[in-house]
Amino acid sequence: MNTTHPNTNDGLPPHVARRLGHDADLQVDGGGDWPAAVDVLVVGAGPAGSACAIELARAGLAVMLVDQHDFPRDKICGEGLIPDAHAALRHLGVLDEVMARAQPVAHVRCVAPRGGQVDVPGRLAVLPRQVLDTLLVRQARHCGALVRTPWKFDGLIESDGRVRGARLRAAGDPAQVRELATRWVVMATGAAVPALIKADLCERRTPTGIALRVHVHAPDLADRLTTMDVVWHRALRPGYGWIFPCGDGLFNIGVGAFFQRGQSGDGANLHELFDAFTRVHAPARDLMQQARWRGETKGAPLRCTLRGARLGRPGVLATGEAIGSTYDFSGEGIGKAMETGMLAAACIRGGDTAMDGEDRRAADAAVLARYGSAVAALQPRFDLYERANQVNHHPWLADLVIWRARRSASVLRRMSGVLEETSNPGNLLSLKGLMRLFSSR
Ligand SMILES: Cc1cc2nc3c(=O)[nH]c(=O)nc-3n(C[C@H](O)[C@H](O)[C@H](O)COP(=O)(O)OP(=O)(O)OC[C@H]3O[C@@H](n4cnc5c(N)ncnc54)[C@H](O)[C@@H]3O)c2cc1C
Repeated sequence: MNTTHPNTNDGLPPHVARRLGHDADLQVDGGGDWPAAVDVLVVGAGPAGSACAIELARAGLAVMLVDQHDFPRDKICGEGLIPDAHAALRHLGVLDEVMARAQPVAHVRCVAPRGGQVDVPGRLAVLPRQVLDTLLVRQARHCGALVRTPWKFDGLIESDGRVRGARLRAAGDPAQVRELATRWVVMATGAAVPALIKADLCERRTPTGIALRVHVHAPDLADRLTTMDVVWHRALRPGYGWIFPCGDGLFNIGVGAFFQRGQSGDGANLHELFDAFTRVHAPARDLMQQARWRGETKGAPLRCTLRGARLGRPGVLATGEAIGSTYDFSGEGIGKAMETGMLAAACIRGGDTAMDGEDRRAADAAVLARYGSAVAALQPRFDLYERANQVNHHPWLADLVIWRARRSASVLRRMSGVLEETSNPGNLLSLKGLMRLFSSR
């Protein structure tokens, strides 16, 4: 099956195109004057960067949020919002606006290689990133942050062992360069590493996973495919396939591959995995056969496990997927990106004083130490997700867990707890956890 298609909305009814953010009222003006200096420059206006900018602007700091793209912009993603994302969006003051445009979903349907399936309840929704990320950028501006796009981070300005600002280039006109003085730069540049390398914060250049998705419109299947389907199968190793409903018969369908520590992922072919998905999972086949419109099939890297980047040095912090804030095994990262962005903001806020000299050095060290501890506190949970990644490599484990969940309310509750983060997948899949499956009622 050919999986590349032109990126056009031709043939999409306007109300469906609106679900993808193609409506005039979503535009964000990224122009305006440039101050000589701001308190904090946030580079990257994904969920991590916008969350960070919102928190800092709310605290009264002078913040500039820049991105290499104008908004709305596309971001390759499954676009599923799980409970952690709902909580972060509520905290940031945009949950109602997000839910007014999102497709609410009641269950994740887990499908095992032998066809067994179980519906796990949770607070879930699907919203194309063109819309979600734009709503967050708009909230950052509403809270007082300056938003400048399309500007590309080009490097840090440093003196006396400290970052003092950053150099930015107009994305459409690379000859146009701006230098901005700032007390802190926050690198929220996602899974692509070039900006992180330029900031000298990158410790791992290879991704921990890769994934591919396409939007398709199949209105005849809207009533049938109402859950967020996640499908494990031998043919999809080392990953899984998904179908997420975006509403009005629009779907996000894709596959991801997750590598184990030390593996580079060479040889994983997402297009082959995608073709396999449409062979082994009948709803995926029906969707691709009946789709009246297909967007462009696009792949992207994932940075998981909360490793692979320096968290910062005096005057600069990294946050979001740049520091690997996406969960291994599941590939969920929108909520955790916002959480780490908010943590970075809280640490800068706590140590933001205009002092210089020794006091400044001590204040910098305190910000870095606070951020280091806050991120380290998240590490155990990320380690458990890394352990759970064995399901993607040994999908028969999904047969076992799903078979038990269909017979045991307590196992189903624990799976729902994984979504709510009250229980975790690593424990469910540990030897002890697997043995407990057989004693659960
Ligand atoms: C195919 C796929 C499916 C996924 N599905 C899901 C899902 O269903 N649910 C979920 O929760 N997570 C999912 N994820 C993970 C999720 O996309 C990420 O965890 C999340 O986007 C990370 O947010 P972020 O803000 O850290 O980075 P991003 O969202 O990547 O934002 C980074 C921003 O930085 C900008 N930037 C980069 N370099 C520069 C530069 N030099 N100058 C200026 N700007 C720059 C980029 O333009 C971008 O806007 C998926 C990922 C993939 C690849």
